[in-house]
Amino acid sequence: MTARGVKVSGVDKAFDEVPVLTGIDLDVAPGQSVALLGPSGCGKTTLLRIIAGLERPDLGTVAIGDTVMTGPGSWVPPERRNVGMVFQDWALFPHLSVGRNVGYGLPRAERGGPRVTEALDMVGLAGLEDRMPDTLSGGQQQRVALARAIAPRPSVLLLDEPFSNLDTSLRVEVRAEVHRLLVELGITSVFVTHDQEEAFVLGDQVAVMNGGRIEQVGSPYTIYREPVSPWIASFVGDVNLVPAIASGSTAVISVGEIPLDSAADGPGMVLIRPEDLEVGATGPHEVTFVEFYGHDMMLTVAVDGTELQVRTAASRNVVRGEHVSVMHRGAPARFFADAAS
Ligand code: ATP
Repeated sequence: MTARGVKVSGVDKAFDEVPVLTGIDLDVAPGQSVALLGPSGCGKTTLLRIIAGLERPDLGTVAIGDTVMTGPGSWVPPERRNVGMVFQDWALFPHLSVGRNVGYGLPRAERGGPRVTEALDMVGLAGLEDRMPDTLSGGQQQRVALARAIAPRPSVLLLDEPFSNLDTSLRVEVRAEVHRLLVELGITSVFVTHDQEEAFVLGDQVAVMNGGRIEQVGSPYTIYREPVSPWIASFVGDVNLVPAIASGSTAVISVGEIPLDSAADGPGMVLIRPEDLEVGATGPHEVTFVEFYGHDMMLTVAVDGTELQVRTAASRNVVRGEHVSVMHRGAPARFFADAAS
């Protein structure tokens, strides 16, 4: 499998004159995995379908490797794009055996051959060629769908919410397996999810979409620690967005002065992740809510009329009603001036 990159430039798409995608630019390097993350209806699936060639944009181009697949005067049909697809419902043929499902996208002469065995081997289902899909577990069926997509050795794999049909524990397990496989194969992949954790775990890069636009593209670290808007900050994790007055490299909030990651002045909001706060054993602030997770716990603490979320290592038991102090202990915080938020 030779990985090729994907480049989407200036893509617009409307359905019945309602814009669904606007000015989409996306660059996926060969071998990289990119998550399209966003709320329901933001256009993720439409973008994936445009890359696959299942949908035509109104404007813009899609190139895979050096070939323009979609663009003014260019159109390569989906079956000639060398792209594999895994759908949310896996779309296995119920009347075909596992082996025949996996062989489906291969040239006729290769359907019973080593490519099928090899693909099943890769997904950990060696020897199950003759089973029918309905005799397999959900996780196994998902892997058959993946084997079918990788059997033709595509240069790009597109996955649309591939784990959403699995229950939580299986989802985590299958996701880890698929992640390892994608890394091992070095295959370029673009996948759609509305689950922030899934995007962070699987994506080398995450493109956060909202209302038909890509609002930010970056590594999971960048998206989480350096979001470009309060909306992204809240969409990708728990966050305290606290009114503050910035003054140079610090801002003053109810729990004191905290360092900022870039200089600012005036009123706005400071983004503080719960793990950037810590509680001290005694203090004036009441703990109003406790969620105990084992590896850590999330406390809600009332500080001067504002409820702050604090994630703390569960090394000491903290109970509701207890009074604590709160301090900032994390990396310098992000500040959004009022006009920008
Ligand atoms: P979800 O997470 O719910 O699947 P999504 O982000 O993948 O959402 P899309 O499926 O791309 O979003 O849909 C974006 C918008 O385009 C939605 O408002 C949807 O109703 C609309 N849409 C999608 N396909 C069509 C179509 N073929 N005809 C008309 N409208 C469509």
